[in-house]
Amino acid sequence: MRAIVIGAGMFGASTALSLARRGVQVQIFDHAHPGKATMAGAGIVCPWATKIEEAEWYRMYAAGARFYDDLIASLVAAGETDLGYRKVGALVTSTDPAEFEAAGRRIAARVADAPEAGEVRLLTPAEAQAKFPVLRPDVGAWFIPGGARVDARLLSAAMVRAAVALGAEYRSDYLTLERRGDGVICRDGRGEVLAADEVIVASGAWAQQILGPLGVQHPVKPQKGQIVHLRLNGVATAHWPVLLPMTSHYMLAFDDSRVVVGATREDNSGFDYRVTAAGQAEVLAAGMAIAPGLRGAEIIETRIGFRPAGPTVKPIFGRVPGIAGLSVANGLGAGGISIGPFAGKLLADVLLGQPTELPAAAYAPGV
Ligand SMILES: Cc1cc2nc3c(=O)[nH]c(=O)nc-3n(C[C@H](O)[C@H](O)[C@H](O)COP(=O)(O)OP(=O)(O)OC[C@H]3O[C@@H](n4cnc5c(N)ncnc54)[C@H](O)[C@@H]3O)c2cc1C
Repeated sequence: MRAIVIGAGMFGASTALSLARRGVQVQIFDHAHPGKATMAGAGIVCPWATKIEEAEWYRMYAAGARFYDDLIASLVAAGETDLGYRKVGALVTSTDPAEFEAAGRRIAARVADAPEAGEVRLLTPAEAQAKFPVLRPDVGAWFIPGGARVDARLLSAAMVRAAVALGAEYRSDYLTLERRGDGVICRDGRGEVLAADEVIVASGAWAQQILGPLGVQHPVKPQKGQIVHLRLNGVATAHWPVLLPMTSHYMLAFDDSRVVVGATREDNSGFDYRVTAAGQAEVLAAGMAIAPGLRGAEIIETRIGFRPAGPTVKPIFGRVPGIAGLSVANGLGAGGISIGPFAGKLLADVLLGQPTELPAAAYAPGV
């Protein structure tokens, strides 16, 4: 089987790697649009605290986190050691006592069958602040040891390199599709036809631009996120846990004294690739409210990403009905760094007619 994967974000990179591991001849193409979600994603992998209850999505989110141990181990075995991945744990907190208790009940129910989450415990405000020194001093936290963070830029690049090491080809290019008979033909940026048995559109928020000319109505739209990177000069942040204050904002830290505060969720944004005063102010205000110790931090950069947001939170992947040899891999929304690697493996199973760990039909396009 020869497959073309259009897009090398979390979904495309993981699908390509999973196919290459099964002996498929894979070509990966990526245009790296400004606002590629994977380049802006925060990198939190901690599904157990979410307030979203949608069952099929949560099953996928939890399975995505579970899959990380295998994924990281297999990449390390392939020589990929620089992934920005660490199980730093997660602090789940709230300034609202009722919300905090509800979070504790929700987490307890979810981790009961998720040993990878570790043993959850309640921390006093002083214990929470000892783990996350810039945190305000009056909030306790649930600590989930299995929470992790990863640098999705490094991870997606590593998945592509691992696929290439298995014989895949990677090119930076912009692809287009046309209808031909009951299937499609694919052209590269020079107009050359590329031969394939299966074309997988893993093109994130831009997928409709490539599917529209085929007469396919694909319901994924860009949801803009602005996310601020701060530096606490001289502070060792490598082991700080992820901070989830049960609002739509959050925080995480990386090795280079970097604290990341996210993020806006701007629907109907189109592809507006600009840092706005309101976006920056919203994120900084939310961050400093829960972590006042950040007031003196240096602003290093603000990243912008277009989350591929479907009509529901569920990802959309599988063969496109009525068009031979065409599949989509999309709709990862706000959880794609967690879900992407597992969903890519699931899609590879579907395309190769192999049994899937979760019933994949629920995520099929048009369902
Ligand atoms: C601010 C922010 C914070 C986030 N935080 C988290 C988090 O903490 N945890 C989590 O789990 N998820 C998080 N996410 C979500 C996650 O980043 C996304 O769901 C995921 O990265 C989407 O990956 P993707 O491969 O579907 O799309 P993308 O990464 O957008 O990749 C699609 C690629 O397709 C390419 N492409 C499009 N059309 C073509 C074409 N015609 N030819 C060639 N290439 C093409 C694009 O250029 C792009 O490179 C966050 C997202 C944002 C924006």
